[in-house]
Amino acid sequence: ISRIGVLTSGGDAPGMNAAVRAVVRTGIYHGLDVFGIMRGYQGLMEDDIYQMEGRSVANIIQRGGTILKTARCKEFYTPEGRKKAYEILKQRGIEGLVVIGGDGSFRGAVAFSQEYDIPVIGIAGTIDKDIYGTDFTIGFDTAVNTAVEAIDKIRDTADAHDRLFIVEVMGRDAGYIALHSGIATGAENILVPERKTDLKDIINSLQEKERRKKLVNIIVVAEGDEYGGAQNVANLLKEHLPKAEARVCILGHIQRGGAPSCLDRLIASRMGYHAVECLIEGKFNVFVGILNNKMNYVPLENVGKKKGTISEEWMKIVKILAS
Ligand code: ADP
Repeated sequence: ISRIGVLTSGGDAPGMNAAVRAVVRTGIYHGLDVFGIMRGYQGLMEDDIYQMEGRSVANIIQRGGTILKTARCKEFYTPEGRKKAYEILKQRGIEGLVVIGGDGSFRGAVAFSQEYDIPVIGIAGTIDKDIYGTDFTIGFDTAVNTAVEAIDKIRDTADAHDRLFIVEVMGRDAGYIALHSGIATGAENILVPERKTDLKDIINSLQEKERRKKLVNIIVVAEGDEYGGAQNVANLLKEHLPKAEARVCILGHIQRGGAPSCLDRLIASRMGYHAVECLIEGKFNVFVGILNNKMNYVPLENVGKKKGTISEEWMKIVKILAS
């Protein structure tokens, strides 16, 4: 193998740049030509491809976003679209691809790898942390720390006014950001997509707290919870708690931005390095995860969203510590 390509695809995540840097520099270390493909599969289709030097990735390890940009690409869902991508890679002489993205990007890579003989190595770049075969995904640690910082600030103002705050964090299918940031900020309740929450329990506990004059409460809600996000939860609670001064705060896209945390830079560097090693060793269509602090290589077709893994233990801790 002498020429490889790297792209970032799907939802962006802080730390993607650190992974790109690791891929480029490891490739160059091994004497490979490394090509940066802009805007994910979309840029691949449009031949928006540039050769990278060691210096092309200087000064980016600490930057959020992705210098390669990212996109969603309808055409790649079709066999014709993937054929076009293959032809461009062939023309360019690119013999292996590193895809940094979420499970959607990996599904695209699987479809491509079943049709063509260019090996694809996947690296999980997603703030949701909901990918099988890895304890870490690039961006989660930064996103959750951003959420913690924001919720701490909300608690200050909640405390000053004796208010109930319902804070919405990202997580359409996964509650990890809500769970981790909620526990770390002492939230009274956490609502996640993976578990049912009886609103009656929350109302009872808030009423009981009201009786003992504990009026400052924070409820962290993942955007994909069963009630449809923080605003809906607030509306339902207000019906039963007319006296509570409830406010809603939706953190939104700030969770995707900012300088990646140390942990995200480390795992991105490690995964990027091993992705290139995989291509050199001739590994075909695997995903590079980290499990119990060891590299874990999973066939791409087995990689999917991790679901329903929020344990009873965590929820019990939330309940006990928030009393
Ligand atoms: P993420 O990678 O963050 O989960 P998406 O689900 O949007 O984001 O996937 C990114 C891109 O991967 C899509 O825009 C599409 O080009 C490609 N892709 C996703 N699923 C498939 C699929 N089943 N077949 C082919 N391409 C896919």
